Amino acid sequence: MKFLYWIEPKGFCDVDREWYEFIWRKRECPGCFTMYADQRTQPVDVVVEGRPSRAVTSYARGPMIGLIRNDFLKLLGEEAQRWLHIGRVFDSKTRLIREWSTFIGERPIEIRGGPDSYGRLCEECGRYLYTEGEDPKLMHIHRASLSDQPIYEANAAALLLTPGLYERIRGKKWKGVWITRLPVYDGPLDGIDPFPENYY
Ligand SMILES: [Zn+2]
Repeated sequence: MKFLYWIEPKGFCDVDREWYEFIWRKRECPGCFTMYADQRTQPVDVVVEGRPSRAVTSYARGPMIGLIRNDFLKLLGEEAQRWLHIGRVFDSKTRLIREWSTFIGERPIEIRGGPDSYGRLCEECGRYLYTEGEDPKLMHIHRASLSDQPIYEANAAALLLTPGLYERIRGKKWKGVWITRLPVYDGPLDGIDPFPENYY
C-alpha cells in the first residue's frame, strides 16, 4: 500500500464537567492527559455539553475522544465495527444523542513527521509523547506501524482508511470533512526506528 486517507477531526465538543471530573479523570494520566492504554480495549461513552458540530468527525475536548456522525459511520460498514470500539454519546441530562458515536482504536497509528520531529517521556506514566515536525508536507505513515486493518484510529481522534474503504465515502458531498492522502514509507523520515512501543 502506498498511501492511506487521513480524516482529521473538524471542530470539537466540550464534555460535561461533572462527567469529566468524576468519571473520566481516573481513566487518564494526570501528567499527559491521555487515556490509559487499558481504556482502549472497550467502547467509551461520553457525556457532552451541548451538541457536536455538524462536521462528520470531531472530538470530545478534554479526553480527546473521537466523535463520528452515525450516517458517516454506517458507510464505513462492518470494518468500522470490527476494528474500532464504537461507544455512545449522551447529553448532560444523560439522554442518548442518536446522531453520534464515539470511536476508539486499540492501537492508534502515530502520524510521523520530518527530521525535526521529537519525543519525550511523560514523567507521570512513562508514555512516549511524540511531536511531529513543522512541515506538513513531510507527514507520513511508517509501514512497520501498520497491520492488515482497513481502518485505524490515528492520533489524535482522527481516522485512517485504506483506499478500498475510502471508496465508500468518496464522491459524496460531505460538509465539514478534512481528508489528506498520506504516503506510507518503509523508512520513517524522523529517523525514529524502532518507534517506542509505549506511545499510546
Ligand atoms: Zn502520562
